[in-house]
Amino acid sequence: MNLTDLQSLEGRYLMQTYRRAPVEFVRGEGARLWDADGNEYLDFLAGISVCSVGHCNPAVVEAVREQAGRLMHTSNLFYTEPMVRLAERLSESSLGGRVFFSNSGAEANECAIKIARKHAHRRGIEAPEIVSFERDFHGRTFGALAATPALAANPDLGPMLGGFRSVPFNDASALSEAVGASTAAVLIEPIQGESGVYPVTDEVLLAARQACDEAGALLIFDEIQTGIGRTGSLWAYEQTPVRPDVLTSAKALGGGLPIGACLTTPAAGEVLEPGDHGSTFAGGPLVASAALAVLDIVDDRSLLRSVREMGAKLSEGLLSLGGVREVRGRGLMLGVGLEQGVDAVAVGADLLRHGLIVNVPEPGTLRLLPPLTVDSEDVEEAMAKVEAALP
Ligand code: PLP
Repeated sequence: MNLTDLQSLEGRYLMQTYRRAPVEFVRGEGARLWDADGNEYLDFLAGISVCSVGHCNPAVVEAVREQAGRLMHTSNLFYTEPMVRLAERLSESSLGGRVFFSNSGAEANECAIKIARKHAHRRGIEAPEIVSFERDFHGRTFGALAATPALAANPDLGPMLGGFRSVPFNDASALSEAVGASTAAVLIEPIQGESGVYPVTDEVLLAARQACDEAGALLIFDEIQTGIGRTGSLWAYEQTPVRPDVLTSAKALGGGLPIGACLTTPAAGEVLEPGDHGSTFAGGPLVASAALAVLDIVDDRSLLRSVREMGAKLSEGLLSLGGVREVRGRGLMLGVGLEQGVDAVAVGADLLRHGLIVNVPEPGTLRLLPPLTVDSEDVEEAMAKVEAALP
């Protein structure tokens, strides 16, 4: 089937919720993808921060193959070892409490929202409120959507879930003022991803921690994009002065398979009880085996050092290019702010034609989320392509 036929079938049978680029990918290996015509691409988007250990990483492929041939699903009514081992590994590498598995990032946030609300009710709060930043992105299920102000404003999807409010991004005093007696939680991305890669400052994170502590509220970090090594530490919070009470993960955790997780401190891990939450597929042996293989690769000092080094090299190199105004982010999560008047959408499309995959999360910004396994040559190749695409 050629691309034109594929596009016409897609247009007929798929709900038209995505604007897809006119490329059909058929194969991936490491940081490279190949389309149906045999053209090679350097993938500096990695499935939007999912394929962090590279496409078809042999260790992940082997773990999935082995597990798929043995046992794929039993439901959460029984024990399976990969799930329990993964929970132990995630907990011990983060907040030390319990884990709830889900199938996506939005669902991991739903769990965090339930924890926050129940925790608040236990403190006698009748109408608990969750505070997020304007331009935060937490997902598209109704709870996560309500914490995603830009999308929650869509009147066609209303009524929205109540009990959410937002404050201007990176505004410590607005955040502190918004947190009070009815606050269940502050739910934020430590670095906003979908809105264009904007890090929350340490000062604001400290203010959020302090406001939550004073109010008895939970601080929840959505690390769905920033986690699993993306910023050069396993979790982004490790490079900040604060520790959240609840942390959500997904995207890169499954190496390409769908899995999310809500991780807690020991105290927050006691909140949900039987009947409060559940999911048929979540934490199944197949995805858990893939995630264990991913963590074997990513939770490694030399890989994380390389993420910081490659990130610095990429960031410095891009900043030196004409047409680039600023480079934001940490590790290999970078937002490239282009000079006024440079059309980022046109640059992104040109890059795709010349074999470099990036995306344009907002006007004027290119977002780069390459596999964490990229080397100096990949980075130099990407920079040369960006330089050639800039006017
Ligand atoms: N939270 C953040 C920070 C994200 O970047 C995303 C996805 O882009 C989500 C939540 C939602 O994850 P999912 O699409 O797996 O539901």
